[in-house]
Amino acid sequence: MLVRVKGMNDRLPSESKKWAALENKLRGIFKIFNYEEIKTPLLEYSDVFHRKSEQSDMVTKETYDFKDRSDRDLTLRPEGTAGIVRSYIENKLYVDPEAKKFFYMGPFYRYERPQKGRYREFHQFGVEVFGNNNPLIDAEVITLGYEIIKSLGLKDVSVNINSLGDQVSRTNYKNALIEHLTPYKDDLCEDCLRRLEKNPLRVLDCKVDGNKDFVLNAPKSLDFLTLESKSRFELVKIYLEAANVKFNVLKTLVRGLDYYADTVFEIESAIEGFGAGNILGGGGCYHSLVKELGGPNVTGFGFGFGMERIISALDAQGINLEKIDFLQTFVLYLGEQSTVKAVELLRKIRESGISSDIAYNAINFKSQLRQAVKSEAKFLIIVGEDEIKEKKVAIKDSKTMEQIIVDEDKLISYLKENL
Ligand code: AMP
Repeated sequence: MLVRVKGMNDRLPSESKKWAALENKLRGIFKIFNYEEIKTPLLEYSDVFHRKSEQSDMVTKETYDFKDRSDRDLTLRPEGTAGIVRSYIENKLYVDPEAKKFFYMGPFYRYERPQKGRYREFHQFGVEVFGNNNPLIDAEVITLGYEIIKSLGLKDVSVNINSLGDQVSRTNYKNALIEHLTPYKDDLCEDCLRRLEKNPLRVLDCKVDGNKDFVLNAPKSLDFLTLESKSRFELVKIYLEAANVKFNVLKTLVRGLDYYADTVFEIESAIEGFGAGNILGGGGCYHSLVKELGGPNVTGFGFGFGMERIISALDAQGINLEKIDFLQTFVLYLGEQSTVKAVELLRKIRESGISSDIAYNAINFKSQLRQAVKSEAKFLIIVGEDEIKEKKVAIKDSKTMEQIIVDEDKLISYLKENL
């Protein structure tokens, strides 16, 4: 019997609806944040990924490289950024001085050891923003990642951020790392010995040495930031707070690629049984990659999220996106007098981009409730004469049947926070 390639999965029709719902949801959010879709080939000339400056495992050990029939060296893309940077330069998308904001979705290939949450063909969605070196961009992209995870309804996730600093900070930090790690040379794996001089940061996220005490106790990048990088990172934090993003500064966060500088981040889930797969996605800032690939001196900031992991996280938390996509709220009214108010609320809810419905031919509250429950809307919004007098509405969670009363003018913000 012929079988599928190791580490690669079929997506059967039974799973496809879930993926389509996720893709739809993502497209909606990208639209709200004004990102445009970019699609680049799965195959690139190998030089796009294999660069001297990039010594991460992903690029040195995990790529699918082969020759085509005309003896050209090709590589199946292991990540999204380098191909998009190549396209950005080749198509001269930089001539427009405005920041460019792209999103993408699709398959990626890494020759890793297959296990739960780690495959050889997997899917990512991601974004890349090219512009001037402005920490507003860092904050916006992190906010977007956070909003995506939140709007999918995923709970128990945290946003970790760190700064690796600019070129000068990184050089000082590298030297400190080399000094710290050199006495432990004998305890380093073969790869890390090789990395020690050129890319000591890669020792920190090595799968073999990364958890050894002397690696965990290594100096932290935050202590080596130049004044400029330090104040840049402070601004990122201020902007994130203004955007209401809850984050932790994680001093040990380095991310697995060599082109990252200044801000890096990741979103981690605490979902039980996820093990090594608990990082849903992450990314960071890169100052020199566009120039290195032959483009102008612009800064980029991007992230990538694993779609298989997000689907498993949704499954683990019993979240059914198809249903969320279907209906978010249902408005119910008690008594003839409340009908006008119900119509008014329905309009306000829909205007704010939240889906809503109402029972048009329901005679009594009981039959409205029956319809509302059947619709599987997440929240039932209830108005009666008492509520109207007090300018309040009742919100009932259709799963737990818990009910709270909020001021009418707080309804939309409550729904946005909790949907
Ligand atoms: P990275 O590009 O390595 O930062 O990965 C970004 C995200 O893609 C990770 O957090 C995972 O969610 C996902 N990912 C990376 N590698 C794999 C893989 N081999 N299989 C499944 N998902 C992956």
